[in-house]
Amino acid sequence: MPMLWETIRHKVYRESGYKCEICGSSEKIHAHEVFKFHRDSLTQELIGFKCLCYWCHITTHFGFAQRIGLGREAHKHLRKINKWSGAQAHNYVHQKFKAYRAIAHLEWKVDLSYVDKYIDRGDMIDPISILSTNRGER
Ligand SMILES: [Zn+2]
Repeated sequence: MPMLWETIRHKVYRESGYKCEICGSSEKIHAHEVFKFHRDSLTQELIGFKCLCYWCHITTHFGFAQRIGLGREAHKHLRKINKWSGAQAHNYVHQKFKAYRAIAHLEWKVDLSYVDKYIDRGDMIDPISILSTNRGER
């Protein structure tokens, strides 16, 4: 799985031109998994990947940002990216947490079949090429 993830994230970076798909930054890029939640079948389906910079990624995982002490910075980034007031950002976060709480207690199946559509196994990155191209991205 680690080599598969390396292959995926480098493909995501290439496809985005090594830029964050939200703010356009090319600093500290990450690959972010995008899931769709099918409530009828209780399936969490992987539907794609996005290249995000560190701050857009951590802001996307707002609860995690808060747990590691970066809630204020994530809130600030959310306001900056969306040109929102503090109240607008606060309301957005409140609505997202409310939506999360409504489904978090359910037992979800995970459908990762998208990976097989996204990655040609023949394109798997060899570990040596990663060592020479990995410059601090995650
Ligand atoms: Zn960004």
